[in-house]
Amino acid sequence: MKKRICLIHTGGTIGMIRSDKGYLPKEGYLETALLEISDLRNEKMPDFDLFEMSPLLDSSDMAVGDWNRIGEEIASRYDLYDGFVVLHGTDTMAYTASALSFMLEGLNKPVILTGSQIPLCEVRSDGRDNLITSLLIASEGKYNEVCLYFGGRLLRGNRATKMSADGLLAFDSPNCPRLAEAGISIRYLPVQKPPKTSESFSLCHLEDVPIGVLKVFPGIRFPIFEKLMTERLKGIVLETFGAGNIPGEGDALLPIIQRAFQAGSVITVCSQCPQGTVSLGTYKTSSPLKNAGAVSGFDMTTEACVAKLYYLFSKHYSKEEIKSLMEENLRGELTK
Ligand code: ASP
Repeated sequence: MKKRICLIHTGGTIGMIRSDKGYLPKEGYLETALLEISDLRNEKMPDFDLFEMSPLLDSSDMAVGDWNRIGEEIASRYDLYDGFVVLHGTDTMAYTASALSFMLEGLNKPVILTGSQIPLCEVRSDGRDNLITSLLIASEGKYNEVCLYFGGRLLRGNRATKMSADGLLAFDSPNCPRLAEAGISIRYLPVQKPPKTSESFSLCHLEDVPIGVLKVFPGIRFPIFEKLMTERLKGIVLETFGAGNIPGEGDALLPIIQRAFQAGSVITVCSQCPQGTVSLGTYKTSSPLKNAGAVSGFDMTTEACVAKLYYLFSKHYSKEEIKSLMEENLRGELTK
C-alpha cells in the first residue's frame, strides 16, 4: 500500500516569490508551484497532503510560539500519516529541528525538515530535489526521528547546523555521522538510534523562558553582562573557545557564574568550534567553570543547547535536575 505523508509548509525560501523588497512568502503559491513538478505524481512517490500554516514565515522571524504551532500541526495528524515533511526556511531550520526533537516525545515516525536556498520559482531551485527526496525518505521510514534533509544529506535534526549562507550543501552535522546520503540512490548509514523515550506519542509545548547565548571573545568585559546573567536569564549558553576555555582564567566570569547559579540560572558551556567536544578541566582556563556551577554541553550544537534549555525549563524540573539532564543524552543530541 502507498505510504501517506503529511507535508507542512511553514514558509522559507522554497515557497517564496520575488517582490521589489526581495523574496517573501506568499499564501497559496506553493500549491500551484507543486503542480508544476510532475515527478511528485510519479508512481514511485508516496501520496501526500499539503497543509499551509498561516501566516507563512521567513524562518528568521520564528520564535518559540511558532515551534509550538508546528508541533501541533504534527501532533493533531500523528495517527493519520506514515511520516511528516516540514518545509521551513534555512536560517533557523536547525533550531526548529532541535526543538521538535525534544517536543515530540515518544516519536515513532519520520519528521523531515527541508527547504531550499533558491526558491521553486527560480530556474536552478534546489527545492525540487530537497522536497522529492524528503518525501521518499519520510515514506521509507528508516529513521523514525526528527531529521533534516538538505543537498543530498540526511542529518539528525538536533545535530544539524547551517554551514553555508549561499551554498547548496548548506547543512551538516560535524559531530554526528550523516544518517543517509542521497546520490544515485539513497544510501542509509548505520547510526546509533537516539535513546527511547515514552512508549506513546505526545507533544510537549515549550514556554518562552528567557534564554540567552553569550559568545566569548578576546577582550570580553564580563561585568557588562553581569545583570543579564544573574537577574534576567534562566538558561545561558556560553560559547567558549575550543574545548571550553575562557579568558583571564575566569577571574571576572566565575563570580558571575556563581551568582547566576545561586539565582537559579543554568549555564551550559558549548564550544565555538563546530566540530569536537567541550572537556572541562583539560586546561586551567576551563577547570573552574564546573566548580562555579556551569554544566558541560559536550559536543552539542548551540541550536540544540538552546532548544534543550527551553524544553527542560518547560518541563518544570528543578535547577539540579535541569543541570544533570543537560549533560545526559536525551534524543541523540550529544556524545559523552
Ligand atoms: N530567510 C530565509 C528563511 O530562513 C532563508 C531560507 O529559507 O533559505 O526563511
